[in-house]
Amino acid sequence: MRKPIIAANWKMNKGPRETEDFLNTFAGQPGKLDGLTGQADVVIAPPFVSLPAAVASLNSASAVAIAAQNMSDQDSGAYTGEVSAMMLKELYVRYVILGHSERRTLYGETDAVINAKIKKACESNLKPIFCIGETLEEREGGKLETVLRTQITGGLEGIDEKDMKEVVIAYEPVWAIGTGVVATTEQAQDAHAFVRSVVADLYSQEVADKVRIQYGGSMKAANAAELLAQPDIDGGLVGGASLEPGSFLDLIKAAV
Ligand code: PEP
Repeated sequence: MRKPIIAANWKMNKGPRETEDFLNTFAGQPGKLDGLTGQADVVIAPPFVSLPAAVASLNSASAVAIAAQNMSDQDSGAYTGEVSAMMLKELYVRYVILGHSERRTLYGETDAVINAKIKKACESNLKPIFCIGETLEEREGGKLETVLRTQITGGLEGIDEKDMKEVVIAYEPVWAIGTGVVATTEQAQDAHAFVRSVVADLYSQEVADKVRIQYGGSMKAANAAELLAQPDIDGGLVGGASLEPGSFLDLIKAAV
């Protein structure tokens, strides 16, 4: 039985003050998250500069985990603008989103770059949320499976079975991210089942049965229950619907 994992990807939204306000409303009032964090792992990914505020609002033992949205594959040195795994660890960050489609398309991250970051995250005991997904053009051109297989194989190269236990995969069709167009439950389930089959090919059925695969792309409270009811959908990576504490809480409630 895989425990669902619901993660908020705030992208470039919410500085430290807004982060604190959100978390005080979301997690700060007794009863708000009661029972939910036992049923699903809840993760919040604020921008880098808001990570200390998030950690201070939640404390390191909170049931809500903090994620970064990106990370360097290097340890330290002359890498202007970059943030290392150890810096994130020092802030009690537990997860890191890697390979998001915005990083791939806007910042040119390749499968090899993402692979180096996943390796560094695993080495540093940070849990990668490894994003994959096809564009509409690729889907309509019949390339869905080739694209997903290439991204998974490239991203996970050299990641052994032990490290794979810490990896969460997020299937995010690019055409559904931030568009309000959600994949049908059938499209999402079929893609998730395919992703799991690729993990089984690369590792084993046992590893594939354990890996959690989130859906991402216009997920909200109204569609979360149906998506999460699919056998291979184990959670969500949520952008827009995670920016307001009430809507994110409603989504988690719908999902569990
Ligand atoms: C995302 O940013 O990963 C995402 C899925 O965004 P949205 O929920 O807004 O589509």
